[in-house]
Amino acid sequence: MVVEVTREALEAMRRAARLAHPHEACGILLGPASRVTTLCEATNVHPSPQTHFEIDPQALIDAHRQARDGGPAVLGYFHSHPSGPAEPSATDVEMAAGDGSIWAICAGESDASDIRFFRSGKGGFTRLSMDLIDG
Ligand SMILES: [Zn+2]
Repeated sequence: MVVEVTREALEAMRRAARLAHPHEACGILLGPASRVTTLCEATNVHPSPQTHFEIDPQALIDAHRQARDGGPAVLGYFHSHPSGPAEPSATDVEMAAGDGSIWAICAGESDASDIRFFRSGKGGFTRLSMDLIDG
């Protein structure tokens, strides 16, 4: 399966990961259908932000409310692994709802160049290939 991601959204994820380092950055992926066009950056409210993330619940509520009011759909979630690979961790697997949402995970100490996408399904995470698009 393929997820389309705009350059702008991808750059926003890299920037967020770099700025949050050594904490995990997090955010909400927005866009129409399976096309990630926007990263909505959110505060990581987890008490151990170096190794965990929890998206500010108010940001999630706002994103869902805006989607209901005709805004872009909530496609999934972004977070970074400041010192781990761009793969779902054991904690991520535990936390994932298996609801079909898209998870973007960004790894990297400094350049934050490695971003991978996964779908959270009933049987766990499935890697998605990414199509970089303009717009
Ligand atoms: Zn993680």
